[in-house]
Amino acid sequence: MKADMGTGLTPPLDLSTQFTMNELRRENSMLRNQLANLLEHAHQNQQIMSRHQDFDLRLISTSSFRELVENIFSTLAKMSELDIVTLGLLDRQKGLQTIVQDLNITPEEFPSLFFVQNELDLRIHGEQLRKPALGIFNQADHGNMFLTCEKKPASVAIVPLIRQNKLLGYLNLGSFQASRFNTTMATDFIEHMASIIAICLENVINNERLTHMGLTDPLTNVSNRRYVEQRMLEEIGRARRQQYSIVCMYLDIDFFKQINDRYGHQGGDDVLIEVSNRIKAELRLSDTMGRFGGEEFVALLVDASAEDGMMVAERIRKSIAERPFQFHQMGSCQATISIGVSTLSESLNYGKIDNVARELLQDADQALFRAKNQGRNRVCEST
Ligand code: GH3
Ligand code: MG
Ligand code: MG
Repeated sequence: MKADMGTGLTPPLDLSTQFTMNELRRENSMLRNQLANLLEHAHQNQQIMSRHQDFDLRLISTSSFRELVENIFSTLAKMSELDIVTLGLLDRQKGLQTIVQDLNITPEEFPSLFFVQNELDLRIHGEQLRKPALGIFNQADHGNMFLTCEKKPASVAIVPLIRQNKLLGYLNLGSFQASRFNTTMATDFIEHMASIIAICLENVINNERLTHMGLTDPLTNVSNRRYVEQRMLEEIGRARRQQYSIVCMYLDIDFFKQINDRYGHQGGDDVLIEVSNRIKAELRLSDTMGRFGGEEFVALLVDASAEDGMMVAERIRKSIAERPFQFHQMGSCQATISIGVSTLSESLNYGKIDNVARELLQDADQALFRAKNQGRNRVCEST
């Protein structure tokens, strides 16, 4: 013990012992540093895990397509420090794109969201991926996944989104660092994330599809009466708050019974589909249009004056009268439409909203009645 107290009575340590002590001290300090690093690493991992858990929970609680895609593009990119995230969805019949359009989601809102009709367009080396593929970006294999990105990533993870053996699309992660994704990396973590995203995606798409079906006319694929009536109340409310006028149009195909009688029900259906397309083509994305029943349609033009309404109605009338309608099978026919137009100016937008809506629609219907009486193929304005 004495020796340890440095009394000077013990002989000095020989050089080799001193060397070993220094060695041990150095090693000890290295181990301490390593431990500190490991702890720091474990702490960081724990933080990452908890961030990812929050992300999973957030994804699971999304109920709309928009909200889910927003989370994928912003939250995921930020949380995982990714430079680029794109999402390519398989949409064979273009049904999903119709729904997305009806949700008023424009390509500008999500430039990194794209649709492909054929999964071959997305295959890497001609095969469908079952597992994430990580590695250096190359144009031939990955170019299609990053078409909208001006600056291409240096390394990528192409992650298939598979649900019950069905490919829904690909989530494509890109980094400007070449070392970020490489072929030797474990992919369990990414696979876990992909399976959560696939479940959520299927779920929101099914939800949106159901809503869409309940509010869409199956023949013409435009909105149905229920949707237009519901939307009318919302638009009248908004017009009141934001102080602008709106226009309502009631449109009815002329002598449609004769078209049916002459060309059969199928011929009539073809005309109905094309008429709805032509009406829609003359409206803005923010306007509402739907099939109200039989051969009748209603359109609602937001932030539009009576003159705007008359001008658009005239354009619709012309686009129908001036071009023949091709039948699906063979042949073609002419058709015309009559239109009644009513306007709700901001100064008259008061009182109970459903009363205001009913009156606006009635006015348009009365104007339509006059258009019919005056010989059809014309536009009349409510008085
Ligand atoms: P008007 O110029 O006065 O409007 O005459 P119209 O013949 O267009 O009007 P009417 O109300 O007498 O006839 C509408 C016809 O629309 C009758 C109905 O059989 C037909 N119809 C309703 N729904 C459909 C449909 O989904 N498909 C087809 N092909 N015809 C339909
Ligand atoms: Mg009618
Ligand atoms: Mg008619």
